[in-house]
Amino acid sequence: MGLEELVKKAAGLLAEARWPIALTGAGVSTESGIPDFRGPQGLWRKYDPDEFTFSSFMENPARYWKRHLEIFAGLGEAKPNPSHYALARLEEVGRLKCVITQNVDGLHQKAGSRNVVEFHGSLSQAKCLRCGSLYPMAGVEARVKSGEIPPKCGCGGLLKPNVVMFEEPIPFEALSKAHSEALKCDLMLVAGTSASVYPAAELPYIAKFGRSPMNFPGLEPVQKSKPAKIIEVNLSPTQLTNTIADCSLLGKTGEILPKIVKEVERLLEG
Ligand SMILES: [Zn+2]
Repeated sequence: MGLEELVKKAAGLLAEARWPIALTGAGVSTESGIPDFRGPQGLWRKYDPDEFTFSSFMENPARYWKRHLEIFAGLGEAKPNPSHYALARLEEVGRLKCVITQNVDGLHQKAGSRNVVEFHGSLSQAKCLRCGSLYPMAGVEARVKSGEIPPKCGCGGLLKPNVVMFEEPIPFEALSKAHSEALKCDLMLVAGTSASVYPAAELPYIAKFGRSPMNFPGLEPVQKSKPAKIIEVNLSPTQLTNTIADCSLLGKTGEILPKIVKEVERLLEG
């Protein structure tokens, strides 16, 4: 099938679905200039992941915050790209119930998506490790730049970017929302992710079969009476391609997603 036919097929599935949801990863944000972690130009080629563990943060928060400024300062000014706007538009026309994302850049919300589940937290805020207060990141970064390092809360507690670091668990609320959406959905649009890293990796399988191929405690395996359709949009083939994906579109999400959404809107009008 050529790209045009695949776009039509994907749009047709989206237009028909009762409970369509999306799962996104770094690929939807690279066009906004957000560095990814695992890719060939990824941060882990340049930095040691061991410096981004929770224990490393606790051991030397000042060092961590210096690194944070080096890598992430200015992220707050990043703008959504056509991938984010396309997904926000889908939600707006009633063809997307939620976006589950592995990204921490907050760009889905900036583009207008309302129902967003962030697996790994968000770099848009810092959190006090003592009282839990949240602070906008821009202000905290400004304080770090002016020499307040590490930055502290009014209560004296240490501030930490509100993201999930290595060694930290995925927030229970996000995980449980993602599971229930994956069980409920009858279509999952997987965009800009190879979905190879837990917990995102198991979601397409939960959507399709009602259970995960991985072991995790606390979730009853449920057999799904109606397997969800899986549409993937990614730069390169993934483990979903030619296996459980019903429709695989290879290319930039910023080019393909807007095409799909345009076609969905045409179908909804017709
Ligand atoms: Zn505090």
